[in-house]
Amino acid sequence: MAYFESSRAPGRHFLQIPGPTNVPDRVLRAMDNPTMDHRGPDFGKLGQRILERLQPLFQTSGPVVVYPASGTGAWEAALVNTLSPGDTVLMCRTGWFASLWQEMAERLGLRPRFIDTDWRRGADVAAIGDALAQDRGHAIKAVCVVHNETSTGCTSRIDEVRAAMDAVAHPALLLVDTISSLGSIDYRHEAWGVDVTVAGSQKGLMLPPGLSFNAVSAKALAAAETAKLPRSYWDWRPMLAANATGYFPFTPATNLLYGLDTAAAMLLEEGLESVFARHARHGEATRRAVRAWGLEVQCAEPRHYSAALTAVRVPDGHSADRLRAAILEKYNMSLGNGLGPLKDRVFRIGHLGDFSDLQLVGTLGGVEMGLRAAGVPHRAGGLQAAIDYLSGNA
Ligand SMILES: *Cc1c(COP(=O)(O)O)cnc(C)c1O
Repeated sequence: MAYFESSRAPGRHFLQIPGPTNVPDRVLRAMDNPTMDHRGPDFGKLGQRILERLQPLFQTSGPVVVYPASGTGAWEAALVNTLSPGDTVLMCRTGWFASLWQEMAERLGLRPRFIDTDWRRGADVAAIGDALAQDRGHAIKAVCVVHNETSTGCTSRIDEVRAAMDAVAHPALLLVDTISSLGSIDYRHEAWGVDVTVAGSQKGLMLPPGLSFNAVSAKALAAAETAKLPRSYWDWRPMLAANATGYFPFTPATNLLYGLDTAAAMLLEEGLESVFARHARHGEATRRAVRAWGLEVQCAEPRHYSAALTAVRVPDGHSADRLRAAILEKYNMSLGNGLGPLKDRVFRIGHLGDFSDLQLVGTLGGVEMGLRAAGVPHRAGGLQAAIDYLSGNA
């Protein structure tokens, strides 16, 4: 049962928004331990173990900074540690979250240049390449891309963005938001030459909200020495100095760190390859259900389909929000809403984090029953299509 329910609903709530995601019982139990002295002798050992476990999750051998903040805080940290007032940054507006990051950049005194999409695909790599090729004076100091755009269910090809930057030997930093992809979709901080990777706790990492991360390259660390945007709380330098012995410069979110220690161990036990394959399978099963219903997936580019969530368009004249409300009321399941211009036009099925075939079948069953209850025109058979795929591809 949920912690707060205004009326009792039997059984388990289905939290199928694309973050926060379902927190495994093992992680909940880890957090249900006495808070410890964050300056005491044991804490440093725990801190060091957690910082080591984070590196394989980001696929990096470099430092990962942990903030007691939601993902938005780590967005700010990525910008203020590496950039100076008036710097030009190239930002790919692939959806709602990319737009929020761009607005933050403006408020911080940066000068974003945009590359827009129709919100139905990932970042336009050719346009990034063109913009960098034309920037012979190297005015662009950073390229900012959201890896998995949670508002649209489109995943950008960071390897291709890197290749486009290398093709014109542009020295800009590459800053990537992986808040809804890390721990769900293959992501390689080091191999893809990313300078700052931004992540959050409450999506693929299977934790409650409240922690966020910056994985940092050597080039980003060098940029931090000369960057002039004001920074204090977000400054990497005191953080990295304290982290060397497993401590933090201010009070860390101790019990969330217990959870992180456990969640990271669980992902590594399952094996990242298996974790990514599981998410890809669930994405494919979900899209098969959507097509069988006769509905449309928001992502129109198959190479950019997200393995973490699927945004589904409702037919014109119908309301995605009324559908979601019906599903919540009748079946006790939360689905993600449409954001910005997609408000009421799409609903989003989260299939990331701690999630199994049976949970997906329950989720898609709830959607199919909800489509009927809310009178949204569709064909039956979506759930069956997903079951056929899952049972043939165990
Ligand atoms: C959830 C999300 C954010 C916002 O993170 P908060 O933890 O809500 O601050 C930013 N970017 C993406 C891609 C997200 O999915």
